[in-house]
Amino acid sequence: MSGILNPGSSHGGEAPVIVIGAGFAGASAALTLADAGRPVLLLEAAKAPGGRARSFPDPRSGRELDWGPHLFMKANPALREFLGRIGASASLRFEPSLDLTYRLADGAARGGVRNERLSFPARGGAPASLLALLRWRGPRLAARLSIARGLRRVLKEGPPAVESPAAESKNAGETVEQMLDRLGQGASEREWFWEPFSGAVLNMPAGEGSGELLRRVMCEAFGPGLAGASLGAPAEALGPFWADRALDAIRRAGGEVKMAAPVRRIRIEGGAVRGVTLSGGESIEASVVIAAVPPPALLRLLPAEAFGGKSPWRDLGRLRSASIATAYLWLDHPCPGPAYEALVAERWEWLFRPGAGGLKAGDLRTGEKEPDAPVAFLCGGADSLASAPRSEIESAAREAAGRLLPDFGLRRVLVVRERAATWANGAGEQAHRTAAETPVDGLILAGDWTATGLPATCEGAVRSGFRAAEAAQDPKGG
Ligand SMILES: Cc1cc2nc3c(=O)[nH]c(=O)nc-3n(C[C@H](O)[C@H](O)[C@H](O)COP(=O)(O)OP(=O)(O)OC[C@H]3O[C@@H](n4cnc5c(N)ncnc54)[C@H](O)[C@@H]3O)c2cc1C
Repeated sequence: MSGILNPGSSHGGEAPVIVIGAGFAGASAALTLADAGRPVLLLEAAKAPGGRARSFPDPRSGRELDWGPHLFMKANPALREFLGRIGASASLRFEPSLDLTYRLADGAARGGVRNERLSFPARGGAPASLLALLRWRGPRLAARLSIARGLRRVLKEGPPAVESPAAESKNAGETVEQMLDRLGQGASEREWFWEPFSGAVLNMPAGEGSGELLRRVMCEAFGPGLAGASLGAPAEALGPFWADRALDAIRRAGGEVKMAAPVRRIRIEGGAVRGVTLSGGESIEASVVIAAVPPPALLRLLPAEAFGGKSPWRDLGRLRSASIATAYLWLDHPCPGPAYEALVAERWEWLFRPGAGGLKAGDLRTGEKEPDAPVAFLCGGADSLASAPRSEIESAAREAAGRLLPDFGLRRVLVVRERAATWANGAGEQAHRTAAETPVDGLILAGDWTATGLPATCEGAVRSGFRAAEAAQDPKGG
């Protein structure tokens, strides 16, 4: 039954700011507004919060599993601030420094399975990182020295300016591959250092990913000191780790949250937002709406007729997504080791030992995992194994497990895949990313794909959420 709902009675009748989407972007915007005393209504289409960073119950194992394991960087200031505000910091464990174990099998390992470790110190600047690269037994010495030179040059160039449109900044539009050519990086340097890093950050092959985005992340990670590049993993599944806590924090701050409440349309009249209509037909009045949804969902929410057929968001159709697939593997006996390992010369890119409550406090490296916890293979990219039919992904996981984990029997494989896991990380797409503010009064955009200057990551999503909340509190936005 349709009707006009007008929540916000607890705020003296002031219409709420409506936030659409309970992913990192929407949740961080809603919490910031609620903390500032603004009435907020967060509407989420799904039954559970978290968006792409969500988890789900696996009835067969009785475990909560991530829709894909996530890693965060110490140099993720907005994300860490948000996690602190919702009380999740204690469940996020960081290594003291960037400490990466590589796993190789067969030809790449010259027979059998081999592990190599690249461990940067937490302090010591350039001399200490050079020493770490020299101690590393991955690629040949000449390649390691070349990596050090390439890294130094990236840091010297500095990050591209966020404010300047991509077309104006130096080396704009450059792919990662072109950037690595410019830095004189050879095949071995790419395989061992740049591609694992850029694949994880951009979820795209080097020939397509944006060099500018990678440069920004490298500068934020390695620039202020080596500790910024250290990686962290949640010690719980993503739902309990952050999404449930975020909703609790929003409610405690006086915000309202509705799950299973898909928005059908954002109502726009006379160039200004009037509210939203839910799929069930109900209308909710509001003069400020933050749409924190991915591009295709946004285009469905914005009625073309509101723009006389000339939508200001036509360019959003040019933004591309890329998939990520995860194969959970239940082995016949425990497989201790670091929380994550990079796989060299494999279709699968990472091996994870996910938290799911199994990591011992402060120990990502040798943490004893719960005996029955699965390990996970992860791969991504638009034209990669992650986009293949599910049956092919599963057989690739079984085949890789036989080679990379030869001492283990395989009891079960479960494949999960997000087709649009990341957005807009391509070199040619940066100019099409949109700012938070829009030509429509009261309509504000958020999401990892908006113009944050960062790749589509949780840090980018939270920065966009903070920015959207700021715009909503600006008299022009509200
Ligand atoms: C498998 C996988 C692994 C990843 N690994 C990492 C990682 O290691 N590190 C990292 O930083 N990032 C990682 N990412 C990316 C990260 O998850 C995303 O960048 C981030 O979660 C995006 O948040 P968001 O709020 O912008 O969008 P989303 O999470 O997509 O949130 C949008 C929300 O809007 C809701 N919605 C859509 N339409 C409507 C509607 N009409 N009405 C109401 N609600 C609606 C959706 O249901 C969703 O909950 C990974 C992503 C995936 C899928």
